[in-house]
Amino acid sequence: MYEGRKVYAIVLAAGSGRRMHSKQKKQFMEILGKPLYTWSAEQFDSHPAVDGIIITTAEEDIPYMETLTEFRKSGASDIYSTCDTAKTYPLQKLSAIIPGGKERYNSVFNGLNEIRKTEHISDTSSDSDVAISGDADPIVMIHDCARPMITHAIIDDALHYAAKYHAAVIGMPVKDTIKIIDEEHFVKSTPERSSVWLMETPQSFDFSLIYSAYKKLIQKESEGRLMIPVTDDAMVVETFTGARVKVVAGTYENIKITTPEDIKIAETYLSK
Ligand code: C5P
Repeated sequence: MYEGRKVYAIVLAAGSGRRMHSKQKKQFMEILGKPLYTWSAEQFDSHPAVDGIIITTAEEDIPYMETLTEFRKSGASDIYSTCDTAKTYPLQKLSAIIPGGKERYNSVFNGLNEIRKTEHISDTSSDSDVAISGDADPIVMIHDCARPMITHAIIDDALHYAAKYHAAVIGMPVKDTIKIIDEEHFVKSTPERSSVWLMETPQSFDFSLIYSAYKKLIQKESEGRLMIPVTDDAMVVETFTGARVKVVAGTYENIKITTPEDIKIAETYLSK
């Protein structure tokens, strides 16, 4: 709980990790002897304010994830016999392992619906707004499991600013000059560096705000009217609600593991 409100973390682990060019999916690759996703999931699990964790993973990986986390162990021997993992990484606060979707935003929406069901929050489907507010409105932290360098200090800041501003995302100022380029790779413009920040996760919101924003997004997708790629949660709130999103400085270490060279960087940081 944070200031009397329930806190949920959605840990996204349903990507294909194509840019890693590895046999094993990125989320399950071992970093210093542990699957990548466990590093961030364990940070949420051990944080005193976090009440529940939802992991999204590909449908076909659900039995494997259940084995790794020792989730729903009883009466599931038929499932476990298909997996040959020896080591497990139980999470005390794991509330659900659910299938992700085609795109990251589909996985997030599945996670939000899981929270809605768990919290018995009604959804009047004609309207995108949900009828909750104040203490009954959980705080949701959405996190890419590919960012293993998340810390309790980052979670503390994310919660503080989400509770204060309803929407808060972790980021850092860019160090390099950024160019906007055209299709032929010629420079179109140069944004002023001091106002350009790299977005990280967690991205944290009032449940009611992020759920109504995502409902509008999914509605638009179903009408075939989604024109730009949706790459983070803040942009869903920016685009579909009038809410302002607070950007909070995190750390440069909180990188997203995307390509093979990132693994070495993560191992250096995590071995500290
Ligand atoms: O692909 P990328 O690394 O940008 O994905 C960010 C995070 O979102 C990763 O943790 C990945 O597992 C997750 N993801 C997901 N569902 C998808 C695509 C990505 O949960 N369909």
